[in-house]
Amino acid sequence: MALVAQAVATDHVTPHDLVTYSRCPFEMELLHARHASIVSGQPVAARTPIGTLPLRHSPLFTPPNLGVVVNDGRLDIFPDDLLVYEDAGEDDLPMLFSEGRIRLDPRFAHPNATLIDRAFRLSGRPDLVIARGAGDLVPVEYKSTHLFVGYHESHGRMFDVIQAIAECRLVHAAFGRRPPYGLVLYGDVANDGEHEGWVQVPYGDAEERWLRVAIDQVLSDPVRAPVPSERTCTSCQPNRDGQCRYAAVPPGNEHHTARSVFVPAAHWTGR
Ligand code: SF4
Repeated sequence: MALVAQAVATDHVTPHDLVTYSRCPFEMELLHARHASIVSGQPVAARTPIGTLPLRHSPLFTPPNLGVVVNDGRLDIFPDDLLVYEDAGEDDLPMLFSEGRIRLDPRFAHPNATLIDRAFRLSGRPDLVIARGAGDLVPVEYKSTHLFVGYHESHGRMFDVIQAIAECRLVHAAFGRRPPYGLVLYGDVANDGEHEGWVQVPYGDAEERWLRVAIDQVLSDPVRAPVPSERTCTSCQPNRDGQCRYAAVPPGNEHHTARSVFVPAAHWTGR
């Protein structure tokens, strides 16, 4: 039987980790274990202990969401806005700026230019950073889906808020200026932009405090328990790969309710 290494504890999180942890900590753990397996070339098990009981909700408490503005329509780009950062690893980002309005910061204008915040133990790459004419820096996270996906579900805007807050902090750490807000931009590619829109998330002291505590919560959690639900398990990549025995929806049968038909996969990295 092949030896299976234990996933080592990470010392930082990404905005995507925070979003994943907010719906299911075990999903985040499985994704980390998979990444560690690829990097090390040997099977790496999730560190979630055997016998861990599923939770009804993620332990992550919700971020402040006062002042979040949801806008239907195209994002306003003003004549004196500049594009100062673009994630070079993303090839499907929208062309919002003409060539003359692109002034990429040379410190981050290369592939793998991850923004790192050692104080908060946070790293990641916003899709874009805009310098507005008044001097404000604003991170933009782009989603090709339409604005109203998840809009009527309680988590829908929470994911936007978490991602925008974390990216604002990354921009603050990397560029030395705190953004007043972050944007999540919806391109609605499948519908030719019919439901384009954007969400503006304020970023101030309350959001920064929430972020610091949230990162502590994620990094200090030795369990990373599963939070199965039909909604989250349906869109879970480890579930599609047959890696989770807690799944509320069986892999490959996302439109059925799981419990009556699910047979655990023969090989999985969770316990
Ligand atoms: S299948 Fe469900 S319970 Fe399992 S990791 Fe994914 S979201 Fe969590």
